[in-house]
Parts: sequence; C-alpha cells; structure tokens
Amino acid sequence: MFATAYLSALSLIAFAAAAPMDESWLQARDGDVATLFRRGAPDPSDPNFASNYPDAGSTPSKDKLPQAWVDKLASIQLPDISPSSPNNGYPTYTGGESGADEHICSFTYQCTTDEDLVNPPSGVFALNFDDGPGPASPDLYAFLEQNNISNAATHFMIGGNIVYDPTTMQAAAKAGGHIAVHTWSHPYMTTLSNEDVLSELGWTMQIISDLNGGRIPKYWRPPYGDVDNRVRAIAKGVFGLETVPWNTDSADWAIGSNPQYTTESVEAQLTTWLQGDKKNGLLLLEHEIKDTEVNVFKDIFPKIGANGWKIQNVADAFGMDWYVNSGKGNTDAVTSMSVAANTLVAVNGSTSQQVSTSASASGSASASTTSGGASASNSASLTSASANAASTASAAASSVSAAAAGSNNKSAASSVVSVPVTGFVFGAVGLVAAFL
Ligand SMILES: [Zn+2]
Repeated sequence: MFATAYLSALSLIAFAAAAPMDESWLQARDGDVATLFRRGAPDPSDPNFASNYPDAGSTPSKDKLPQAWVDKLASIQLPDISPSSPNNGYPTYTGGESGADEHICSFTYQCTTDEDLVNPPSGVFALNFDDGPGPASPDLYAFLEQNNISNAATHFMIGGNIVYDPTTMQAAAKAGGHIAVHTWSHPYMTTLSNEDVLSELGWTMQIISDLNGGRIPKYWRPPYGDVDNRVRAIAKGVFGLETVPWNTDSADWAIGSNPQYTTESVEAQLTTWLQGDKKNGLLLLEHEIKDTEVNVFKDIFPKIGANGWKIQNVADAFGMDWYVNSGKGNTDAVTSMSVAANTLVAVNGSTSQQVSTSASASGSASASTTSGGASASNSASLTSASANAASTASAAASSVSAAAAGSNNKSAASSVVSVPVTGFVFGAVGLVAAFL
C-alpha cells in the first residue's frame, strides 16, 4: 500500500560544473537538502501513520520516487558500474571484473575507500547497532540509559521497521541516541538499479527525519556490507550519506542460528579483542533485534571501559556532525538548508515491488567459522544470509575467512521486516561458502 507520498518540489538546483575528476561522483554534502526532503512530519500516533510511507519489506516502487531524487541522481556523475549479479549468491560484475578492483571497490571483496568510515581513532570503541527498531531495542535502550551512554550509540535503522514502530525509534532519539540509515528493506544494495538504491536510502532518511525534528541522517550502513562505488556514489552524491562498514564483526547475529557460535564463544572473542591492541579503534558490527544480541553487549560492556576504550557513537568517533543539517545530538538547530517546506502530494495507487534480484529464502543457514582475531584495519565481510518471511527475525549467515587482510569478519543481519534475499555464497578468493 502506498496511499500517500510526498513528492518533493520543485526547483532543482543547477549543479553546475562537474567536480574534479578524482571525486567526480562525490557531490558536496551541503547540497540543497530542502529540495529533497519535506519537513512537517506525520503524527506517529496516528493509526494511519504507515500509510505515509512505502510498504515495509520490499524496495519501494520506483514509480513513487520523488522527482527531486530522480533529478538529483541525473545531475551527478556515477562510475560506470552495472548492478552486480548474485551469481551463485556471490556478487559478480559484468565482464568478469572483480569486485576487488579499485574501480568497483566492493566491501564484500575487502575493498574500502578513503571515504568509508571504517577505522576509528586509536582507543575508540565506536558503538553502533544495526537492524532496529526491533523486539530487543527497548531493553538495549534502557541499558544504555542506565549506563549514561545513550548518546554514545549510533543506531543504523531499517525504514521498514521504523514505519511500524515509530515510537521506539523516537525513544532512541529522545534518549540522545544517534540515528542513522540501514535501508528500507535490507537488500543487497549492489544488486539494485540506481533508482532502487534511491528508494532504499531516501525513504529511510525521510522517515527518520520526520520522526527526529527534520534532522537528515548523514550515515548509512550497507546491509550485509554489500556496497560498491556505484552505490557509494548515489548515497553520497544524492543524499550526502557517509558509508559506514565495520572493521570487526561481533558475530552476535550467529548465536542461535549457527551452533558454532554461542553467547559464550562470541563474548570470549570480544573479550580478546577488547584486551588487545588499541592501535586501531574498534567499529563493530552488532545488532539490536534479538535478546541474544543485546545480551552480548550488556555482558561485555563492563570490559570496554575496564580495558581503557573510549565509547563514542560513529559521528563523534570520527569528529563529524551527527546529521547532514544539524550538529551534535538531537537538539542542535536544524539548519536552513532543510527547512523549506515541500508540497504534500497524495499519490494514488498501491504497488509494491519486490527486490528484483531477490529470491525467497528461509530457514537457517549453516555458517562456517572464521579464524583469527584482532580487529583488522581493513575488513572483509560478507556472507550469505537469509531472513525468512516471518515477522520475527530469522537470519543466518555464512562467514568468510578473510585471508588477504588477516581480518576476521563475518556479517549477516537479522531483520524484523520480511526480507527475501538471495544469499551470497562465496566461491572464490579463498572464502568459505555456505548455502542457505
Ligand atoms: Zn542489517
């Protein structure tokens, strides 16, 4: 259902000359936010609140894309990279080009760019949680508040989860938490068309902004770590979003779905990392959907401070503003570039669109283990994952052994929304595969 949509206006800014070649696809982040996002939020207590947004669980229809997003996309230069194909579950590119090639720079292939926010400063523990709001979120938020660190956590949230639980997202923000983007329906983003990338990011930014005083998110976490330079370019060039992978995977997501991971084993590994070298800051992959995930954080929390780590949210860890149009916290002024009110337009019709490349997968996946330790400076990731069609999270993932970087990374994510996905399966470069 898509009863109403907000079409943003009107005048497009003329984006004059292209940027210098070396950053030809990087739009300045201080673009005219006001043309892209309306201000004036629907009331989350309204029973029809969700009708203001696309359906949860699938990529919003491109037919309902605000024209300003489409026009902005057309105004920027993108690298010549086609959407990846989940060939046997693994993202592959046309012409046999490797995702590790600098031109593509897929995080799945352990490539990061200078723009990626992946390694916090020495001694900094960049606290962040994915996939909320979810069933375990309130417990997490209570714990954060109890320990006076609500404002030291970044929450990468799923738009399709927020739309049916807006008050929990607002609880995180009101407690002082830093709110960021984890897409609308948790797809493999490199498989999507440019327009679908717009939908996944833009609608999530819109709902977060609507529920947080017009503050436009400035950071996003690609689901499964699946990002390449085309997707990065759209995120930054159209929306001003910084891409935030991770350098260490807690594997909290694997507890309960992979017998090789238990609360005890995950906490033991985390303890080893916390007791280890602080030369590189830690930017973990952690989640807030399941009790087991939140419990891991609660259990290891005392060891973070005891080992001398400084806990900061992602924005503070990198010394950056929290939002595109606001400074620190959720009370700093919203700058004028977001303020212009856009026209509210009712859009008829109700279509929803499946992620074009996805295939329904359900059940749990076996997962291979990784070895090694230490938070690596450059990370690898990606795994296969499945989220079943149930309303509760069920995800599992295979993991990879990142031979090249010597890092230990696994990823997957659970999601409250129904997310049909195709599992990526590693079949090359020494990565270990597992099928859904
Ligand atoms: Zn996720």
